[in-house]
Amino acid sequence: MTTCHDGCAGGTLCKGSETLNMNLLREVTTVAGNVTIGINSIGGGDHSRGSQHYRGNAMDVAMPNAALLSYLKAHASSTYLNDNRPVYVVNGIHWWYEAGNHFHVQTTSL
Ligand SMILES: [Zn+2]
Repeated sequence: MTTCHDGCAGGTLCKGSETLNMNLLREVTTVAGNVTIGINSIGGGDHSRGSQHYRGNAMDVAMPNAALLSYLKAHASSTYLNDNRPVYVVNGIHWWYEAGNHFHVQTTSL
């Protein structure tokens, strides 16, 4: 897939290329088979430099709805980021709130 880079929102073209992590895709697909979710971003868009998005290891999911939160709480083990945001870990995939408006979903912890 084509990937962007830090600063992509400034108008430069996305020229990177990376393989999407199949464990990530499988897990998000499994969740999507149970609850409705919206994917905001995979490898495109403006993320931090070196972001896992540009390595094929992360997706952003629209602000979680009640059904998604219930699903994650029922199927995940929980841990916390350093700033105390919860991280839901399902089959090795980590879900956490990012910037208050979406879930960042990643193959590894921070
Ligand atoms: Zn993200």
